[in-house]
Amino acid sequence: MSAAIGIDIGGTKVAGGVVDENGEIRFRARRDTPHRSKRPQVVEDTIVDVVEELREQAPDAVAVGIGAAGFVDADRATVVFAPHLSWRHEPLRDALSERIDLPIVVDNDANAAAWAEWRFGAAQGESHVMMVNLGTGIGGAIVMDGTVIRGRYGIAGEFGHMQVVPEGQRCECGNRGCWEQYASGNALVREARAMILANSPVATDLAARVDGRAEDLTGPIVTEAARDGDPTATELLAEIGHWLGIGIANLAAAFDPGTFVIGGGVSAAGELLLGPARETFRRRLTGRGYRPEARIVAARLGNEAGLIGAADLARAAA
Ligand SMILES: [Zn+2]
Repeated sequence: MSAAIGIDIGGTKVAGGVVDENGEIRFRARRDTPHRSKRPQVVEDTIVDVVEELREQAPDAVAVGIGAAGFVDADRATVVFAPHLSWRHEPLRDALSERIDLPIVVDNDANAAAWAEWRFGAAQGESHVMMVNLGTGIGGAIVMDGTVIRGRYGIAGEFGHMQVVPEGQRCECGNRGCWEQYASGNALVREARAMILANSPVATDLAARVDGRAEDLTGPIVTEAARDGDPTATELLAEIGHWLGIGIANLAAAFDPGTFVIGGGVSAAGELLLGPARETFRRRLTGRGYRPEARIVAARLGNEAGLIGAADLARAAA
């Protein structure tokens, strides 16, 4: 059994694990990165630390895979742009290769997560997979015929910035009406907070959960309220699901996958989100009634998917 090391670089932490050929994590290690120190050097040192700790546990590890939230170039060496790490054209693989004597690949975290769900999770056995991650924004990835489709420059899968509403909500990317303004965790929280701030009588349950402080409301609180049967929270999630279905219908028109895997924090809402998404998807799908419909399923590997996928991609490359 050849093990590989997977590393997940987040905004405030570096998480790593030794992953075996079945996608099981055998050992874990984790370091927080100082909040203001997002300089490449600090994060690099932290990655080297974590890798060294894991290699003591698993001297047989054959490769290191790194999943980073950001644009990673198509040769999987350079982080072109990472908004949460203030990295710009960071030659991460070469920098790490000077300090770690194993083959290293760097990939986008959504690519890594989709790969893991295809190999070991919700999309096993499916030849055409698309993953949509609903977090603060929307990330995504495409795995077709056992290959991650990265695009010419490595930036494919940024579905969150497809325009779905002409002149709609302003997006931080500079455009208006982007999909992630309607179907992400941020969208859910924005809408729920707006109802509390408007003193809406239907938002009393949600307001009570945060003592009336709209700014304290989070996505998980909305999901919990919906699970407890609050109709407003249920409706807010259904609305996110509706917008999810619209975007997925667009993706199906372009890519025709067999399975959509929905991951990210909001996917914890399960059927409260996916039920409405499937309903809208069926109503919006081009050629509906005359074509097979893609499955829409929840991701199975949770927030360790990126780490597992990064390790497995590195093992495959080595
Ligand atoms: Zn945008």
